Amino acid sequence: MTIAENVSLIRNRVAEAARDAGRDPGEITLLAATKMNDAERVREAVAAGVDACGENREQELAQKLPLGAYEGVPVHFIGHLQINKVNKVVGKVDMIQSVDRVELLEAINRTALRLGVRQQILFEINIGEEPQKSGFTPEQALELAGRMGDYPGVYLRGLMAIPPISEKKGDNRKYFAKMRNLFVDIQSKKYDNVSMVCLSMGMTDDFEDAIAEGSTMIRVGTAIFGARNYAKT
Ligand SMILES: *Cc1c(COP(=O)(O)O)cnc(C)c1O
Repeated sequence: MTIAENVSLIRNRVAEAARDAGRDPGEITLLAATKMNDAERVREAVAAGVDACGENREQELAQKLPLGAYEGVPVHFIGHLQINKVNKVVGKVDMIQSVDRVELLEAINRTALRLGVRQQILFEINIGEEPQKSGFTPEQALELAGRMGDYPGVYLRGLMAIPPISEKKGDNRKYFAKMRNLFVDIQSKKYDNVSMVCLSMGMTDDFEDAIAEGSTMIRVGTAIFGARNYAKT
C-alpha cells in the first residue's frame, strides 16, 4: 500500500464515520503524525492530501522544516515540549497542540511576545487521569481558559487528548465524550483570547469513535505511514 492509497482509505473511513454520526466529513481535518518519517515520505503524505502535519520532536521539526517537508499545509507540534526547546518551536509551527502545564504556557507566551507573534495553542487534557501522563485536568483547563487574557502571546484554539491505551474497540468513547463536553463548556463561556475551533482527538486505532463524539481533527500516523520502526533509531 502506498501512502496515497492509505490516505484515500482513511478519507473513506472518515466519511463513513461522519455519516454514521450525522456529521459533515468536511468538518474533520486529517493531520498526519509524521514522527520517524523522513521529509520525502512527509511530502508524499502532503501530496496525497492530508490537511496538516504534526511533529513530536523539536529535532525532527528542525530537520524537515528546511527541507520543505510540510510545504502546502500547516504544521503542528504534538509532542511533549521541554521548556528549553520552546524557542525552537514557537513561531515556527501553526499550532502547539501539547500545552500540558502552566510553566510551558508561560514560556510559550514569553517567547511569542519577544518574537512579536501570537502562537496558536491547544490545551492537552489528561482525560484518563493517568498518573504517568502530563496534561491538565478538565477542571484546571476550564479555570486556565478563563485567564487566557493574561497571556496575549498565545491564542487558545481548542483541546487535544491522548486517551488511555484501550483493551478493545469502543473503550475510549467515554473519554472522547468527556472531551467534547469540556470543549463545549469552554466554548460557551466566550472567554477573552479563546476561540474554540479545534477538538483534536482520535488516532489510528480509535478515530471512528472520536469522530462519533465530535472530534474535528484526527491525528493519524500508522494508518498513513505503516508501523514505525523504533529499532532503527
Ligand atoms: C504518534 C502520535 C499519533 C499517531 O498515532 P498512530 O497510532 O500511529 O496513528 C497521534 N498523536 C500523537 C500525539 C502522537 O504522538
